[in-house]
Amino acid sequence: MSIPARIKDDLPFLTSLRRDLHAHPELGFEEERTAGIVARLLEEAGITVHPGLGGTGVVGTLQLGNGSRRIGLRADMDALAMPEMAERPYKSTAPGKMHACGHDGHTAMLLGAARHLAATRNFSGTVHFIFQPAEEGRGGARRMVEEGLFKLFPCDAVYGLHNMPGLAVDEIAVVEGPQLASSDSWRMTFRGTGTHGAKPHLGRDPITAAGTFLSSLQTIVGRVVDPLQPAVVSACFLRAGDPKALNVIPDIVEIGGTARAYSSDVRNQLETEIGRLAQGSAAMYDITVDYAFERRIPPVINDADATMRALAAAGSVFGGKVQTSFPPSTAGDDFAFFAQNAPGCYVWLGNGPAVDGALHHNTAYDFNDEALGYGAAYWVALVERELKV
Ligand SMILES: [Zn+2]
Ligand SMILES: [Zn+2]
Repeated sequence: MSIPARIKDDLPFLTSLRRDLHAHPELGFEEERTAGIVARLLEEAGITVHPGLGGTGVVGTLQLGNGSRRIGLRADMDALAMPEMAERPYKSTAPGKMHACGHDGHTAMLLGAARHLAATRNFSGTVHFIFQPAEEGRGGARRMVEEGLFKLFPCDAVYGLHNMPGLAVDEIAVVEGPQLASSDSWRMTFRGTGTHGAKPHLGRDPITAAGTFLSSLQTIVGRVVDPLQPAVVSACFLRAGDPKALNVIPDIVEIGGTARAYSSDVRNQLETEIGRLAQGSAAMYDITVDYAFERRIPPVINDADATMRALAAAGSVFGGKVQTSFPPSTAGDDFAFFAQNAPGCYVWLGNGPAVDGALHHNTAYDFNDEALGYGAAYWVALVERELKV
């Protein structure tokens, strides 16, 4: 185990910073206070600051020596729209808002690493500290990319980190391949010809077509997708007719749902197959269907080379406590948009046991301050190894 002495000395500051962020949670694209603190601390450390990228996003850039390699480190800053139910001295002061995913810890750890690296100056190259807004479903990463993140701050590799309850604080999981699922939405409208419920032969019934579609939907995962490839399709929305008009066959039926996959091939397959079933069901009943598949978040898939580099850094801090086999999460993380622009690696940092069973997005969840030193040390090790003097 090696946490640099300077980071250990900084832990009281990082702990109070983390708790201050916890007490003042801000939702996606509203992280004004948080972004202000991030920008001020980066500036105080002598790091060049670019605020306001992607709304409330902040990028700090530290370039040293003549090394040409450039890497990006990501921390997310946003909280969730949910109340904090646990009592703690630094409990949320914002009603209905809470840091229940530990992004307060992510922000504090990356700031800790930035302060250390700016003081010790023990690397040669460029590191971009990327503080992104709105990770929790509001599209912060995509917006930063659209506003030119990688044109302004080109990266040869990008790295992400998320806290993980269940892993000890001196453990980290660094695994090549899929880490988080894609998260996409689909919707369709079956369009028939409404008619009297007693005279179906005079119309075209979209409800029966929709029923055929729904009863076949799970055959995509069961019969079409490779059984060794995880995939989920779920219909989550259904609307047709009126419960007050039980003798009316309606004109339209609307259906919507979600699709999850861990590879772009399966993701493409789900988009195609859901549409094919919809078209086929409509054709069976001689009606039409409008189908739309909305690509929200790609899967996070760790690049082999970036993972090797992350493993080496993790090994220097966590020794034998590096897990190289760890199950992927069915959740999504829009870090995936960064990893589409440069080889990426996303790691899971131990947050200790789940206190009272509270996991991510639970009203009692809390980032574990014991993890601050390990996370900051991992970032520092990654930079000093990636950008060797
Ligand atoms: Zn979350
Ligand atoms: Zn999160």
